[in-house]
Amino acid sequence: MHERDENILVVEDDVQICRFICYALKQEGYNYQSVDTAQGALESIVLGHIDLVLLDLGLPDFDGMEVIKKVREWSEIPILVISARDQDREKAAALDNGADDFLTKPFSATELMARIRVAIRHLRKNNGNYSSTVLTKDDLKIDLDKHLVYLGESELHMTPMEYNLLALFFKNIGKVLTTRYIIQMIWGAGYGEDTQALRTLMAGLRRKIEANPAKPQYIVTEIGVGYRMKDI
Ligand code: CA
Repeated sequence: MHERDENILVVEDDVQICRFICYALKQEGYNYQSVDTAQGALESIVLGHIDLVLLDLGLPDFDGMEVIKKVREWSEIPILVISARDQDREKAAALDNGADDFLTKPFSATELMARIRVAIRHLRKNNGNYSSTVLTKDDLKIDLDKHLVYLGESELHMTPMEYNLLALFFKNIGKVLTTRYIIQMIWGAGYGEDTQALRTLMAGLRRKIEANPAKPQYIVTEIGVGYRMKDI
């Protein structure tokens, strides 16, 4: 066990789940505190000293979604949403409202820790100051200065749209990006929600970077929500 500096706020009204999360955090040496209401969450965040929020959406006083909206009016603190299964629409809405990521119940302590590490890493390089403009993931490499992509030793020929899409994933590695967010970033606001265009673009990109596009190694589909470039 090692001590960490991060202070994590657990917002969960289910006693069992709260106990499970807190135990996992303790094992990893994180500092944490827990509250079981939305109001309690807002008060703790306002008081400060919180680096990351684990937020259940179904809270007894008001909806966790409202917590996200309120907090985003004044804070960029990472928010990891914990939601029940089969609430894809809710997950996507939470992300579009400014949550950073989500976990679906039931989840393992390993999954939870992996998500927390991603969120904390993004927090540390929050200003988008990548120390390097060459980013890699396994055999895939992107040079953001030269607009070049390599798979192993060979350079891949990308359309400008495919390149922009891949660059977007590399800059958000480990984070789930909603379909709506990706469409806005690639086609611009006002394009609406033409998910078919994105699916087509994604299929083209996968054919170029994935050995088996049906079993992607780099960019996975988060069903009903969007896509995520794998971090580990
Ligand atoms: Ca709940």
